[in-house]
Amino acid sequence: MAIRQDENPPNRRFGIINLVLIGLGVLLLVSSFLPNQAIQQVPRVPYSLFINQVDDGAVKRAFITQDQIRYELNNAEEGAPSVLATTPIFDMELPQRLEQHGVEFAAAPPKRPSFITTALSWVVPPLIFILVLQFFARRSMGGAQGALSFTKSKARVYVPDEESRVTFADVAGVDEAKDELTEIVDFLKTPERYTAIGARIPKGVLLVGPPGTGKTLLSKAVAGEAGVPFFIISGSEFVELFVGAGAARVRDLFEQAKQKAPCIIFIDELDAIGKSRSGSMGVVGGNDEREQTLNQLLTEMDGFASKDKPVIVLAATNQPEVLDAALLRPGRFDRQVLVDRPDLSGRRTILEIYAKKVKRSEGVDLDLIAQATSGFAGADLANLVNEAALLAARAKRTSVEQEDLNEAIERVVAGLEKKSRVLQPDEKKVVAYHEVGHAIVGHLMPGGSKVAKISIVPRGMSALGYTLQLPTEERFLNSKQDLEGQIATLLGGRSAEELVFGSITTGAANDLQRATDIAEQMVGTYGMSETLGPLAYDKQGGSRFLGGPSNPRRVVSDATAQAIDREVRNLVDRAHDRALAILRGNRELLESIAEKILEKEVIEGEDLKGLLASSVMPQDTVS
Ligand code: ADP
Ligand code: ZN
Repeated sequence: MAIRQDENPPNRRFGIINLVLIGLGVLLLVSSFLPNQAIQQVPRVPYSLFINQVDDGAVKRAFITQDQIRYELNNAEEGAPSVLATTPIFDMELPQRLEQHGVEFAAAPPKRPSFITTALSWVVPPLIFILVLQFFARRSMGGAQGALSFTKSKARVYVPDEESRVTFADVAGVDEAKDELTEIVDFLKTPERYTAIGARIPKGVLLVGPPGTGKTLLSKAVAGEAGVPFFIISGSEFVELFVGAGAARVRDLFEQAKQKAPCIIFIDELDAIGKSRSGSMGVVGGNDEREQTLNQLLTEMDGFASKDKPVIVLAATNQPEVLDAALLRPGRFDRQVLVDRPDLSGRRTILEIYAKKVKRSEGVDLDLIAQATSGFAGADLANLVNEAALLAARAKRTSVEQEDLNEAIERVVAGLEKKSRVLQPDEKKVVAYHEVGHAIVGHLMPGGSKVAKISIVPRGMSALGYTLQLPTEERFLNSKQDLEGQIATLLGGRSAEELVFGSITTGAANDLQRATDIAEQMVGTYGMSETLGPLAYDKQGGSRFLGGPSNPRRVVSDATAQAIDREVRNLVDRAHDRALAILRGNRELLESIAEKILEKEVIEGEDLKGLLASSVMPQDTVS
């Protein structure tokens, strides 16, 4: 891709003119103070003294101006000043008094500023104003337009050309995201096919994932594959000092894009403008601007509907949870694509891409590197290969060796550890047993879901590993046994930790949360407790869907409240015992799957099925 826009070089001459003008302004100010200062060298006395002196007949003559009275004494003492000044107060009797005592007096004529001062005071302020305007105009001017333009968007435009085109082949390890985006490429290439049927082409796609996983790269690849121009701008670039500037920029961006349609607009860091408006943590000030910008974006997205020249907005964020719900409505960013950190084979392919760009020696084994870089994002891997090349060059080698790569891993890990993205080997082991615990219990429990995948690649924002369960059939009703099974499965992870390591970690917090929620619902909402009977103790309102506090309790007696708590506790405890019993009964299997996953990081499909098939339900836990 080629960069279309030329950056404006900083304008030196402008700086000099500015300085000169500022100098002039200062001069003007100083000069207006000068006369006063000359006068102030005359000693000042209180007005009362002046009056006394007048009454004593000591004053010879007085010169009265608006802001002071200068007067001369008749016969000043030796060494004492003969000319004094005082500050006048509003005194109608003064002329009379002066006349009575035979003081010669005169008033100053109205001040007549010098010609130069007058000229400067007329010319300089407008000049300064014009220059300030120009300064901003230049600063915010995108390209060749010379007009005043706070309101021009700062988007950079890439137009794909043959050599520098980014394609899907340049992006690896994010196959699901690629699949979803292939459809978008198709929309851009042949919109007629969709509109002929009457289908509405999607306007917005939200790419969600941690930094450096290739969201920008993927969007560029979509543009490259479709051969359409690509506008890129960061959400934070909309937000400026001036209220209204962001909204005007959004308008301008869409204006430009429509002229180039079909095309793609890519907004990085959407959260910078798309934060939820209802958030109570919003601080006053600055919010107004963001809100206006967001509203403009929504308006623009709703507005354009050109049939055969689609403009598709791709946006990236790593914190989808803070986005305003209005952004995710149909017709806006209604498609969301997860762009996650790559797994083992993904890392392998990404390494392959970047290793091709450097000279490497025969003996380099990328598989080993891929295994050692769990949790790395695409950008980290690109960085890793580059670090290795730098190390090789520093050691005066002509190609990259395995040891360079190994050392580079350490360097990159050191950087990442600060962001806590890399598991220590002992942590990894805990995560492995934890996840296998979920899987084995989940496999043996009723409830119609089958374990589809176990992974210990750190995922998303918080999970260190995960076990994916897919329902075998669509179910609308869950039996009591199903729910008990789900609780046991959720506790399987923690139980495995207890069993194998004899200690527990903080990793199960989310599991416990969910398990307790289910138990509470069983007792409070579904009336599944034998002791408490089929009563709904929780009030089900619409509040859960509006994000309000869920399940406020009906008014119950203290005794009932205690009974509810006890029942919830019992349900969870029973499930915990069950999970422990299952894992004890399948201890060997637990060990062998954990070992396998530590080696491969992800187990899924037939492999997993085969392994879990040998699990057995211990007799004493069948309830
Ligand atoms: P994001 O937008 O998700 O923060 P970027 O797309 O800016 O990440 O990625 C930064 C760089 O890292 C890319 O330019 C590319 O060199 C490299 N990179 C990241 N992810 C991948 C990937 N999946 N495949 C190949 N390269 C990648
Ligand atoms: Zn867990």
